[in-house]
Amino acid sequence: MSRPTQVTIDLQALRDNFALAQSLAPNAQTMPMVKANAYGHGMVAVAQALADTAPAFGVACIEEALELRDAGITQPILLLEGTFSADEVNTAALKGFWLMVENQPQKEAIINADIAQRVNVWLGVDTGMHRLGFAPQEVAGVFRDLSESRNVNEQIVVATHFACAEDFDSEFTDKQLATFHKTVTDFDSVKTSLANSASVLGRPDTHRDWNRPGYMIYGASPFDQPQENADKLKPVMTLSSAVISVRQIDTGEAVGYSGKWRAERPSTIATIGIGYGDGYPRTAPYGTPVLVNGIECPLVGSVSMDMISVDVTDLENVAIGDPVELWGKQLAVNRVAASCGTLGYELLTRMPLRVPKIYP
Ligand SMILES: *Cc1c(COP(=O)(O)O)cnc(C)c1O
Repeated sequence: MSRPTQVTIDLQALRDNFALAQSLAPNAQTMPMVKANAYGHGMVAVAQALADTAPAFGVACIEEALELRDAGITQPILLLEGTFSADEVNTAALKGFWLMVENQPQKEAIINADIAQRVNVWLGVDTGMHRLGFAPQEVAGVFRDLSESRNVNEQIVVATHFACAEDFDSEFTDKQLATFHKTVTDFDSVKTSLANSASVLGRPDTHRDWNRPGYMIYGASPFDQPQENADKLKPVMTLSSAVISVRQIDTGEAVGYSGKWRAERPSTIATIGIGYGDGYPRTAPYGTPVLVNGIECPLVGSVSMDMISVDVTDLENVAIGDPVELWGKQLAVNRVAASCGTLGYELLTRMPLRVPKIYP
């Protein structure tokens, strides 16, 4: 007795994907990224499922880190964007959060903090993405200032982030890698961290002391083409619903708001109980694949808040209650995303609270 729309989260698949990330880089520590509610999968449930194997977790901000601590997660938690205000350094020291340092104010907040425990610090280098991090020529000075601070633990990790790691045709990763090497070459026995999912999967030459995979542990591929390791990933999130109405329409009839799509033949239209209020993209165009009874059918009409319409003319005996998969185990989220001109990352991450999450 409930609306059939739900997301099912397969935590065993998550664990298998994480184990794959670890096995691809046996000499690295693998830190799963659980920011943004674990890419929409439920941050606490995901962290708990990985708590016995993950050496640390990565989040975007201190609010996320506190949520994990409050839920009983004991591992170090890296704040990928560091602090946003100086008082966060005190909380981080007390709670065992690691701080990325990306700019001078963040560095000064750590050095000037009045804290009893030292904090672990990661130093972010801008090797070409031009979003966060210190310019390569600033790094030696920042490293020295941090090393000399009594607030900072000895082992500083120097890190960078790749802008085009999923694009094997791009030479940009090689450029970033070379810039990074040049930057840390004079540092003695420094620890480093580079790889995101795409590089964990496809660039063993980028594996370092710490790897930082996100998307892949949720079972989706960062690549838009088949890739040996990515093809072993198991989708973690399945978004499903059911048929809530079925009707026949004549040639030339329209379906849904705006009436722009028109039937080119006598058609059977199934209405599905899911819409943009449930995280299904409103921009999904006609023809976006939807699985009805396990068979791919085209979306028709425009996506409503609570419903979509699907052309099931080529299916037999579609009835109210029949199962529908929007993405997941049988339909890769990347395919739906490609149809909508976005990334699977976005579709997973913006899953709204309205959709109940089932952890079987
Ligand atoms: C989100 C994030 C990652 C993970 O990226 P994926 O493509 O999801 O693997 C790694 N490093 C940093 C700094 C990030 O912000």
